[in-house]
Amino acid sequence: MNNPILGIDLGTTHSSVAIVDAGFPLVLADQEGHRLTPSVVHYPTTGETPLVGRKAQRMRVQAPSRTIYDIKRFMGRSASDLSDREWEVDYELSRTMGEPLKVLLGDRTLRPEEVSATILAQLKRIAEQSMECSLERAVITVPAYFNDSQRQATLEAGRMAGLTVERILNEPTAAALSYGLNRLKENAKVAVYDLGGGTFDITILEMFEGVFRVLATHGNTQLGGRDLDQRIVDYCIQQCASSALREAIKSHPECMAKIRAAAEEAKITLSQQTEATIEIPFLYQEEHFSCHFDRDTLERLSQPLIEKTRAHCLRAMHDAKLESQDLDQVILVGGQTRMPLIKQKVAEFFACSDFEENRGDIRIGQSFHEQEGPALHTGEHPDEAIALGAAIQGGILSGTLNHLTLLDVTPLSLGLETFGGLMNVLIPRNSTIPTKAGEVFTTAVANQREMLIHVLQGERERAADNWSLGRFVVPFESAPRGVARVGVQFAIDANGILKVLARNLKDGTEQTLEIQSAIDVEDQQVSQMVESSVENALDDMESRRWIEQKLKAQQLLQAVDCSLEACGTSVDGNMVEFIELKVREVKQTLARENPETQKGDIARLKASMKELDEATQALAAMLLDEVASKLLE
Ligand code: ADP
Ligand code: MG
Repeated sequence: MNNPILGIDLGTTHSSVAIVDAGFPLVLADQEGHRLTPSVVHYPTTGETPLVGRKAQRMRVQAPSRTIYDIKRFMGRSASDLSDREWEVDYELSRTMGEPLKVLLGDRTLRPEEVSATILAQLKRIAEQSMECSLERAVITVPAYFNDSQRQATLEAGRMAGLTVERILNEPTAAALSYGLNRLKENAKVAVYDLGGGTFDITILEMFEGVFRVLATHGNTQLGGRDLDQRIVDYCIQQCASSALREAIKSHPECMAKIRAAAEEAKITLSQQTEATIEIPFLYQEEHFSCHFDRDTLERLSQPLIEKTRAHCLRAMHDAKLESQDLDQVILVGGQTRMPLIKQKVAEFFACSDFEENRGDIRIGQSFHEQEGPALHTGEHPDEAIALGAAIQGGILSGTLNHLTLLDVTPLSLGLETFGGLMNVLIPRNSTIPTKAGEVFTTAVANQREMLIHVLQGERERAADNWSLGRFVVPFESAPRGVARVGVQFAIDANGILKVLARNLKDGTEQTLEIQSAIDVEDQQVSQMVESSVENALDDMESRRWIEQKLKAQQLLQAVDCSLEACGTSVDGNMVEFIELKVREVKQTLARENPETQKGDIARLKASMKELDEATQALAAMLLDEVASKLLE
């Protein structure tokens, strides 16, 4: 078996690892069940092995100078590249101009690649523990704006972690892959809005010859959820009743850190609820800290952040020379996009046609063409989308996901023609494949010697309005009506091939038909078919009702014929005449059918059938009497 390839999102604040397992991409959890690992490494003074993730995160207050966070910002960069604000971290950086940046720990120096490698090694470990096998190959993601030296540094970090890096993938491309957008049509355009903990990116992608290319990318490496946390902290401190406590908080980093953590927690709570209380007992000596906070306040505090992202979106769209209506999809990535106001605002920025969450499925067919603005996609876990997409890319590279049809759906319904020329659907449109469905059919008339299996595709009620995919005949011995039975099964495999199997249930003989073209239907043809089924829905239903009624009438006529024959001369002549009159009426209504539209006067047919039924009741009673007297003899 091919060795699976990991998908790794090496994020500024959080990292995660995913894999395609048995055809499904999934994010792997560590032994405590966490799927996100904080991108933080703590280096103990004693030179022991570094702590990574949550354990390191907890050391940030105690040992800020030895606890490295945000290392992604420094990957592949030199001191002269950094803006003033970028130097503001709690640990020491070498400031030798023109040289690659280094972290100064006092007793040793670290290249950013080494720190990232430690995080990557941890993710590799999480994956190996979870999958119970050793895993070396990986796809690692980077922001679209990363230059060559930043990409090289990421590659190097992967190597240092013992990984074979199969590809460095753009984060927005990975996000689009995770939403299945690689199935979009040529030239489809997607905006990826990624608001994480410390960075914001907006990227416009275009589908070109089956892969995404970046049309424009913008962003800010100093803008993210963390800025919002800081504003909440400032607000809370302002609200603090005691000025002594206020001063104490400002001068004690550990108090500040506690408030910051509580502020982030409240912010997350407010994505679900409308109110939250921040409570920290004994924050400083005997003093408790308490602050009430609601969604309106949070939304007010987040306005400046959201406005800044809007400016970047406008610039990116301008650079790509696009208007909102040129976009097909907008997708939201990054933990901070869970905030309801952000979803709403982004939908407004891009004039999205729906505010509803699409949870990752692409709408195909008609609804897709109907909408004016782009569709907004928000997954349940926007902070996992990039790792999932990287795993999907890994799956494609390793061959486990080569036939992406695995996640495909049937573009149109598949079924059989039944007696009277109607469509009988076995597999409805939009069923995910592989799939199977079957039904048992029986003969409609006595002594029928064969049954025609006519395979159809389409959304119309009448067989003739759908497309014929193939036909064959199942023969059987002559038998009364309804005795011979044929089981028909439709099965579509992962490659989209439809196999039709018909089994004569009496003798077990089987026939099969293989149809390649059931899934590969041109988009345009699909939408034409769906449109015509909607347009003709009323007409089609009327035809179906007429045909069904006609079949019942034919059965009734046959039954009456048989009964008359059985009773022979014992029936009263007047009664026979009356029955024959009613039979003629039914036949006349049937004859008035419009053969082209297969429609007729349903009400009249029903009425004349009722009359015929009533007229034959005496006949039926006679037949019963006859049977009974024969039994008594
Ligand atoms: P990054 O890509 O920078 O590593 P993430 O995508 O993991 O970051 O996003 C982290 C940010 O998302 C943090 O600021 C965190 O507070 C925020 N976040 C996570 N969940 C929620 C939520 N439910 N509501 C609002 N913000 C959230
Ligand atoms: Mg991210």
